[in-house]
Amino acid sequence: MTLLYADFTCPVCQNEDKQMYEIKDGKKKMIFPGDAFLEEKVFEAECGYCDAKCKVQLKVMNNKFAGFANEDELSNGKFKNDPDKDKVFKKWKSEKTFSPSERFDFKKQPFKPGTEITLNSEKFNIEKVYRTEWIEKDVDIRLDHPRPDIYWYELKSQSGLKRWLKVENVEGENVFLSDKGIVVMDREDVVEDITHNPVKIKEIYKDDWFGGRKIEAYQYVNGVRILVTDHKKRTEMDIFEDTFEEAMEAVEENMELGVFNE
Ligand SMILES: [Zn+2]
Repeated sequence: MTLLYADFTCPVCQNEDKQMYEIKDGKKKMIFPGDAFLEEKVFEAECGYCDAKCKVQLKVMNNKFAGFANEDELSNGKFKNDPDKDKVFKKWKSEKTFSPSERFDFKKQPFKPGTEITLNSEKFNIEKVYRTEWIEKDVDIRLDHPRPDIYWYELKSQSGLKRWLKVENVEGENVFLSDKGIVVMDREDVVEDITHNPVKIKEIYKDDWFGGRKIEAYQYVNGVRILVTDHKKRTEMDIFEDTFEEAMEAVEENMELGVFNE
């Protein structure tokens, strides 16, 4: 599935929200504003704030995905500039997420759809369950910028407010609430809708290794992650590949390159 992801402003209530457009083509690819894309399309989407049914125009500019325009924006020229992906990511990173005082036990994630949770004494119902998977394959980038496992939930309050909740696998504060949709950090983040199969990431392999090391492999929707930790539980390798075989090959290649050089 190719997934296009960008902001969309509802022409009825003027609220901005994240919009996704799926193309079932057997690929696994995310496209953000600024990425190469050729075909403009029109589809219908429901506003998360006012439930209005809106016509969404998938805009292409200079053979790049430019974003999702509503009917007013088609005529007012908002999409006349060349799409700039850096600007879009900068905006998304700065978007307000605020942190409720609650903490959720990551071991109990993911919540099932329909679960009721309380945030800052307001009750919400879980409507959709997502996981963002970091499919970065560069081992050095993975090691230098470790990223926790993250679940996102689309929530609705009793008064009909929509919010997005992020629960991260980190110590301390691990809960963030956004009123602008799911926030992705970079192009190697893939958003997976797991509402219909809200299960944990499965451990598919675990073994003790030389020198007190441990090797563990996990099955994500988009591939297999292998972690090698030393006797002090420090991560020495963090591999992400499409299949277990490819991930194991990458482990071997890294060993030959002398990752373990103590
Ligand atoms: Zn609206």
